[in-house]
Amino acid sequence: MKKKYNPPRILRNQAGLSNKIAFNKNAINFQDRIAGIPVKTLTEKFGSPLFVFSEAKIRDSYRELTSILKNFYHNSEVSWSYKTNYLGAICSIFHQEGAKAEIVSIMEYDMAKHLGIEGKDIIFNGPGKRKDDLLRVVDDGVIVHIDHFQELIMMEEVADELGIRPRVAIRVNMDTGIYPQWQRFGFNYDNGEAYRTLQRLIQGNKLELIGLHAHIGTFMLDANPYYISASKLLELAQRVQDNFNIIVEYIDLGGGFASNNTLHNQYTPGEFSSPSFAQYATAIGKAFNESKFARENEPRLILETGRVLVDEAGTLITQVLGKRDLPTGERAVVIDAGVNILFTTWWYNLKILPAQPISGTSLPTIFYGPLCMNIDIVKHSTPYPDLKIGDQLIIFPVGAYNVTQWMQFIEYRPGVCLISETGEVNLIREREGLKDINTRERIPEYLRMV
Ligand SMILES: *Cc1c(COP(=O)(O)O)cnc(C)c1O
Repeated sequence: MKKKYNPPRILRNQAGLSNKIAFNKNAINFQDRIAGIPVKTLTEKFGSPLFVFSEAKIRDSYRELTSILKNFYHNSEVSWSYKTNYLGAICSIFHQEGAKAEIVSIMEYDMAKHLGIEGKDIIFNGPGKRKDDLLRVVDDGVIVHIDHFQELIMMEEVADELGIRPRVAIRVNMDTGIYPQWQRFGFNYDNGEAYRTLQRLIQGNKLELIGLHAHIGTFMLDANPYYISASKLLELAQRVQDNFNIIVEYIDLGGGFASNNTLHNQYTPGEFSSPSFAQYATAIGKAFNESKFARENEPRLILETGRVLVDEAGTLITQVLGKRDLPTGERAVVIDAGVNILFTTWWYNLKILPAQPISGTSLPTIFYGPLCMNIDIVKHSTPYPDLKIGDQLIIFPVGAYNVTQWMQFIEYRPGVCLISETGEVNLIREREGLKDINTRERIPEYLRMV
């Protein structure tokens, strides 16, 4: 497949004056294309706001992660974390690249099945599994990661009722040197709970133990916790082998790699502070090299990576709807995208660039969304040149968690499009309309006006 050629461009340097904050931000950059396609073309076709995904970026990051992992440990694979972005087209790209599916609810199970994924290629995590859900997925060969003791009991009942021996792993939590420690998923390693649970599971003799799992956190800005979690799970696997002669097939280290976004309280930009794939892989590889269990049995290493594989592939196009001067002297700009479709604004200091050249003196500017709520701040005060109504902006990186955690509130949710590696533009989710909002409502006869 031939990739589209993007000609180089020369941009005029706008020097401008230093402002009272002592920084020269007058010459703010602009970006009028996404993956080679003009922003204007995209919104003329699909409206504004609009989420835009770059297929090339998704494939590149997946290939980079899997090839680096294989360099450090040959027997490794990735299961795509559905909750990070479960648009059918996005999941299909990962599956085409060879990723299996990691789900945390029965809704995500339905989604994976709808895309043609086989039960045996699905891992079911999540802390709130119902017995009905377990009966359905176990019958389909899904691998269940047991989260708590009552779920272990439920799984044994499911095994009896279906007359099969379900393939399971247990979820393990632990101290990895990162605080606050995540303790709410799975069984604790450090106080012996995880090992006692394994003893009980094996002695129950109804479930087939095939793996050990730990999802230690998200947006981990240090790679060393993965060395600790891999070491602890491998130690547990060794003990299970020594005491019960059972060899687990895989060690699953969950997700949590940081993308290049920047947290609100973080001073250095994400590009410079998030560990690279090689740093994470080095930490994990070190634990596998040191472990006798890993050297002798070569268990599969599974990662359930989400965020880092898709965050930078997503951009939101928005436009200026209004502006005003605040009594504080700051400028307020109202854009057509609010926090209801940008859930990650709570964590990240997202980047906002104009999609056409702008100039003029920079003033501290707050970007508000269109919601009638004081909390609707997309970007806190930042020096920005003057914007006009109708000016377009792009917000990024927004590919992870926003199109799953978005909330429908006073506005229709926007369309989502995908730019292929050859520059083809496809709408992968239509902008909502009234029908999407009220199709499930029922108005009792006596209240009807029309
Ligand atoms: C959310 C989640 C992931 C993905 O985490 P990221 O931080 O997006 O990489 C993986 N595994 C489990 C169990 C999860 O809950």
